[in-house]
Amino acid sequence: MSDLIFAATCDLAGKVRGKAFPAAQLDKRLQRGVGWTPTNVQINCFDCIADSPFGALGDLLLIPDQAASVTADFGTRTERFMLGDIVTLEGAPWEFCTRALLNSALSRLEASGGLQLLAAFEHEFQLKGTSALIGEGYGRGGFEEQRGLCEALMAQIEAAGFFPDSIMKEYGANQFEVVIGPEKGGRAADAAVILRELTRSVARAHGEAATFTPIRNPDSVGNGVHIHMSFLHPDGSPATHDPDGPCGMSKLTGAFAAGVLKYLDAILALTAPSAVSYLRLTPHRWSAAFNNLGFRDREAALRVCPVTSKDPASIARQFNIEYRAADAAACPHLALAAVIHAGCQGIEDALAAPVPTQEDLSLLTPDDLRARGFVRLPETLENALDRFMQNKTVTGWFPEPFAEVYRAHKESEIAYVAEMDATARCAAYEGSY
Ligand code: GLU
Ligand code: MG
Repeated sequence: MSDLIFAATCDLAGKVRGKAFPAAQLDKRLQRGVGWTPTNVQINCFDCIADSPFGALGDLLLIPDQAASVTADFGTRTERFMLGDIVTLEGAPWEFCTRALLNSALSRLEASGGLQLLAAFEHEFQLKGTSALIGEGYGRGGFEEQRGLCEALMAQIEAAGFFPDSIMKEYGANQFEVVIGPEKGGRAADAAVILRELTRSVARAHGEAATFTPIRNPDSVGNGVHIHMSFLHPDGSPATHDPDGPCGMSKLTGAFAAGVLKYLDAILALTAPSAVSYLRLTPHRWSAAFNNLGFRDREAALRVCPVTSKDPASIARQFNIEYRAADAAACPHLALAAVIHAGCQGIEDALAAPVPTQEDLSLLTPDDLRARGFVRLPETLENALDRFMQNKTVTGWFPEPFAEVYRAHKESEIAYVAEMDATARCAAYEGSY
C-alpha cells in the first residue's frame, strides 16, 4: 500500500480541497507541487461551479508547505495532509490563493503600523448525533459524554504543532468550543484550517459527525468563530496595550479597531459568507449585529477582552481584541486578511479609537444609532455582498479581478438556496460545513 499525502488549499468557499500524492514523492512535490486548475476557485460549497473568467483555461501549481504538515494517527489509519500555496507556472503567488491574500494583508500591517500579528481562533462546533442529556450548557456531564473525543482532539492539535488551550461543552445542544493558543501571522489561519479538519476527522474516528455550520436551525444558537488579535513591534515587544489608552488600547490598536468597525459592513461578506450566517448575526445571540466595540461585552462585533495577568509585562502580552463577526463558512485566511486590511486602513487614516458600548444597541432607534455612528450590519448575504462590491476602498485591498470573481462565486451559492426556506437552508449548509 502506498502512503498518500493530501496537498490542500482552503479556498474561497472555506473548503479544503486538493490532490494526494505518494509520500515517496514528497521531495519532488515540495519543489514542483501538484497541478491545479484556476476554475476550481469557483466551485461553491454546494459543488456548483459559478461563472468563471478562466473557463477551461490555464494551469497552476499547488505547492505543499512543510510548515503546515499534519500527520494524524487514528490507530488503524493515518491521515496526512499539508496546506500549500497556489502559484502560477512561473512561480508567482496566484491572485486567488487565500494564503497569498493573507500574506499581502500582513505585509500591509508591517508597512503601515510596523506591526506583526498574533492571532488565535476560537471555534464552536456541534456534533450531529443526539445526546440523551439535557441542561448541559457548560455542563460536566455533557463534557464527560464526549471526553474521549475532546482528549483525542487536543492530542491531535498538539501533534500537529499547535497549542491546545481549552475545550468545553458550549451552551447549545451538542455544541462544543475549542480554543488554541496564538500563532504569528499566517500560521494562525493555517492553525484554524487544521483545527477544523482535525475536529471532523477525530469526530469520525469516534463514530460522530462534527459540523461547523454557522447555525443549525433558525432558532438555535450559532457556531461562531472568534478571532483574537494582538500585535508585536519588530523587536517582539507587545504593541497592543497602553494602560493609559481608551479601554487599555494603544494608539495603533485604537486606530486598527476603528478601521475594522468603519469597514465592517463591507467585509462581512468575507468573514460571515454564507446565506445562513445572517441568521446568527442577530441581536441577543452573543454574536454581532452592529459595528460596535464592546468592553468585555460579548454582544459586540469587536471586543476588548479581559486580562487575567497581574504584572504589567504580562498584561501587555495578554491584552487582545476579539473579532466576533466571523464563522467557519469563511476561509480563515480570507477572513483574517479582510479584518487586517480594514484595521490597516484605520491605522493609515489615523482614525480615533472607537468609543466602547456597554448597552443593548438593539434598543436604540435607527436615528439614535445613526447619530452615534452605528449601523445595523447587513441582514442577508445579498446585502453584505452589495456593500462589499459598492465599497471601492474595500475591493481595492484585493487584486484587481478578486471582487468580481468573489461576487460570482457567492451569487451562485445564493442561487442554490434561493427557493429554500430558512430551515432548508440551514440543512443545506450543515451538509457542507
Ligand atoms: N455562540 C456565539 C456565537 O455565535 C458565541 C458565544 C460565546 O460568547 O462564546 O458567536
Ligand atoms: Mg463560545
